[in-house]
Amino acid sequence: MPADSRTAAASFGADAVSLDEQYIRNAIDLAREAGKRNEVPVGAVVVRDRSIITGATNRTVRDQDPTAHAELLAIREASSKLDRWRLDDCTLYVTLEPCAMCAGAIVLSRIKRVVFGAWDEKAGMAGSVGDLLRHPRLNHSPEVRAGVLATDCAALLEEFFKSQRVGPAVLSLPAEKGSGLK
Ligand SMILES: [Zn+2]
Repeated sequence: MPADSRTAAASFGADAVSLDEQYIRNAIDLAREAGKRNEVPVGAVVVRDRSIITGATNRTVRDQDPTAHAELLAIREASSKLDRWRLDDCTLYVTLEPCAMCAGAIVLSRIKRVVFGAWDEKAGMAGSVGDLLRHPRLNHSPEVRAGVLATDCAALLEEFFKSQRVGPAVLSLPAEKGSGLK
């Protein structure tokens, strides 16, 4: 008999929170794979009825396409699979706060809920630079949950940019000045 009591969790609230973490972990796995292919490690999954419809990563290098962001690709693929543009029964999970383009696509697709990991203080449009997702004059505002496993999501990006010897172009993480060992 399985000893895991979580499988039969009756409390939807607590269950939803752990599910959010689970799907962000799925997105992190995708992001990590993308990083190995020299793409900025961002991953996204679209979930409907507690199952993953599709997952995608940044593919800007592979496709040589500046619009090939994880969220945009995941939204396109989800619509294609469901054969409808309206994704109002879906949740988008992404490791990094969506940019203006992806936030726009989220609004257009009527996605019900967005859960993201790390904040993107340079380009994020879900509260950092601006908030397109909850703009009062737009006709759709998804529910937003921010900062789920944010440290893990941000660490992935930080490691990537370090290995690329490019500065932290996306994240504003603490600068490493001095060793702090003295
Ligand atoms: Zn984007």
